[in-house]
Amino acid sequence: MHELSIMNNILDIVLENANKNNAQKVVKVNLKIGDLSDIIPEWAQTYFDMLSKDTIADGASIAIEKVPVTIKCRSCGNMQTFKNKNWSFSCTSCSSNDIEIIEGRELFITSIEIE
Ligand SMILES: [Zn+2]
Repeated sequence: MHELSIMNNILDIVLENANKNNAQKVVKVNLKIGDLSDIIPEWAQTYFDMLSKDTIADGASIAIEKVPVTIKCRSCGNMQTFKNKNWSFSCTSCSSNDIEIIEGRELFITSIEIE
């Protein structure tokens, strides 16, 4: 499962940082997840719970900041952010399909709270 390996990478980073800081316990992990990333935010906690058993991150809560998709048109320079998930990948101003995804594919840890 793809999501599982992504969350496994996140757990690795969390544990590595926790160890570096001599943490007893990881309390919270703050993630930034783009609407286009492979992780479904609702599942992140479930996967994390599964993977973090018997580690110091067991029981940590996952807080997710969602990043909406922003595209930029290469033809006219128009930029558009889709707050809802009804994004389209053609320019709303000139209908060009030559667009660039500026934001929305992110998946990274913004901070880790430890004890
Ligand atoms: Zn355009």
